[in-house]
Amino acid sequence: METPYDAIVLGAGISGLALAARLKRKTQSVLVLEKSAGVGGRLATRRGNDCTFDHGAQFIKMRKEDTELWREAVGSQELEHVWFSRAECDYVVFSKGLTQLRKSLAQAVELKLNEKVVRLESGKDFCTVLSETGARFLTKKIYLTCPLPQSVALLRNSQISIPEELEHIEYAPALVGLFRVQSTSPAILNFTYQQDYSECIFSISNQLSKGVSQNLAFTMVMQPTWSKAHFENDDAKSEQDITQFFKEALLRIGAGQDFTVLSSQLKKWRYSHPLTTAKTLFQILPADSKIYLAGDAFGGGHILGALRSALAVPLND
Ligand SMILES: Cc1cc2nc3c(=O)[nH]c(=O)nc-3n(C[C@H](O)[C@H](O)[C@H](O)COP(=O)(O)OP(=O)(O)OC[C@H]3O[C@@H](n4cnc5c(N)ncnc54)[C@H](O)[C@@H]3O)c2cc1C
Repeated sequence: METPYDAIVLGAGISGLALAARLKRKTQSVLVLEKSAGVGGRLATRRGNDCTFDHGAQFIKMRKEDTELWREAVGSQELEHVWFSRAECDYVVFSKGLTQLRKSLAQAVELKLNEKVVRLESGKDFCTVLSETGARFLTKKIYLTCPLPQSVALLRNSQISIPEELEHIEYAPALVGLFRVQSTSPAILNFTYQQDYSECIFSISNQLSKGVSQNLAFTMVMQPTWSKAHFENDDAKSEQDITQFFKEALLRIGAGQDFTVLSSQLKKWRYSHPLTTAKTLFQILPADSKIYLAGDAFGGGHILGALRSALAVPLND
């Protein structure tokens, strides 16, 4: 008879890792199951030959009152720094990309990658967690931290009922362009970040000025409406369209000064952030007090929201 885990956390994004680290501090046996080949979820950093891009979240938008939550979740971090400050908020980043944050959180926990959970079975004392690879894990409690529509699909597939209001929380998709650029224009080199750049462009981030990339590189996130309208289009066409938008934007940023786009890449996120959030910071499934839901659909659609949710989940009941 296999020994059940005290807790299994689904998803090795920031909320899953922070929650697992908390559970672990209570000396419980904790396992994190992650469907991808790496940890971090929407905290993602892509390294090329000579450029590095954060291609999911770009920064942590930190107000003074968030510092305590941040320290509680992450502990002391010597590698974080303020990229820029605006309107009483610090925009905090990591010099090796936001990957650094997830790696430090993942150190303490037992983790299995490439384990996509496809079914949960809730028994009298324990739950069984089944993955696509055919692996089975027994546990006393399950904590789901996937983007909410993915958790909802998993629970439906397991014939486990969920509160109706959670079924209606939708996520915005995001199409993202990654660009290597050559330029001597001070306006381009010193550009940091701009949000709501246009009707089609949500944000443009300079990965060099952020300290993440060793050479000039930009991440451009398209607006949710544009991303939704183009999500199923041919990838090559979307990349071409986004590159055109980027060139036009850079022309304005550089006030017409010279630049060359050396290369472009497209990244697609089906679930970028929730369009609305749940009324509570986490949810215990009413039919079964062994299953918890947490993540950015509960605490707010950003890194601090995901952490706020992970820190609110009770550990002992
Ligand atoms: C392009 C983009 C830009 C963003 N910009 C910012 C920003 O600048 N600042 C900010 O604060 N936030 C930003 N966000 C939002 C932020 O990244 C998220 O709110 C946060 O990372 C959510 O963390 P999470 O742990 O709740 O979810 P996730 O990071 O999505 O983690 C969930 C994990 O669950 C895994 N999973 C899913 N289904 C299964 C399954 N069946 N079995 C096993 N594992 C599974 C997934 O692979 C994933 O790793 C951005 C997001 C995107 C996509």
